[in-house]
Amino acid sequence: MKVAIVHNNEQKSRRVTQQLLALLEQKQIEVSETDPELIISVGGDGTLLSAFHRFNHRLNDVKFLGVHTGHLGFYTDWRDYELEELVSSFLIEQEKSISYPLLDVTIKFCDDVPDRHFLALNESTIKRSNRTMAADVYIKDELFERFRGDGLSVSTPTGSTAYNKSVGGAVIHPSINAFQLAEIASLNNRVFRTLGSPMVIADSEWVSIDLREGSDYLITVDQLNIYQENVDSIHYRIADERIHFASYKHMHFWHRVKDAFISED
Ligand code: NAD
Repeated sequence: MKVAIVHNNEQKSRRVTQQLLALLEQKQIEVSETDPELIISVGGDGTLLSAFHRFNHRLNDVKFLGVHTGHLGFYTDWRDYELEELVSSFLIEQEKSISYPLLDVTIKFCDDVPDRHFLALNESTIKRSNRTMAADVYIKDELFERFRGDGLSVSTPTGSTAYNKSVGGAVIHPSINAFQLAEIASLNNRVFRTLGSPMVIADSEWVSIDLREGSDYLITVDQLNIYQENVDSIHYRIADERIHFASYKHMHFWHRVKDAFISED
């Protein structure tokens, strides 16, 4: 088994990384940045998101594992004092993993610019920087609504507790293979009307957002900010690829949600 470590720049994360490297050497486990089979992220959810984007071209060949050096994260299960147990667990239980859905994002342009394609682990949002965003929302190629407002957020089930939650989206159990469309400050009056509720879209369906004017858009994909001119439309569906986590600690999902948002036990 070859392992890569992705860490943030916090002092604690750098110390934990050194301890982890020493343990891997002791167990004669190879460290490889080019063709790892296991990616260990050391830091927080943001570090795991970075690790995902760095290795998302190898999703069928790699598993992820998160060590948190701050608060318990949604993608980071292991603590810094559990490193020995962690290394033993992935040596013994190589086949034990869990996978979650990802969001497939395609940006199409008004001119001959080639499409851009991304995978999101948490979400993708589309916002207009300094004016109201006007867009036609299609579900399975059928016009659903004409949106006006700050923007739209499209999230995965594991991303439902991130930005989606802040804009009033529902928290979705990650075993559900679906994605969620949530509004960001929609304009609703007698002239403009949208559904006004977050929508959970089935994995057999797709959503297209046709922008009614071409400029000043900010499209996000997890931590990535994409400023684009001449965007014609953005297309969302559940990706064929999934993210796989190794040696996953099966903490009850709703317990984790309670721990993060309501109170610790
Ligand atoms: P960051 O450093 O600003 O941290 C974002 C926070 O979101 C951290 O506390 C992190 O633990 C938490 N987070 C990330 N993924 C999560 C998840 N799936 N469930 C619950 N909490 C989660 O930003 P970053 O490290 O660059 O991470 C980017 C992510 O931050 C984006 O994908 C977006 O979901 C989230 N974000 C949220 C808001 C908001 O809620 N208003 C604003 C910006 C970004």
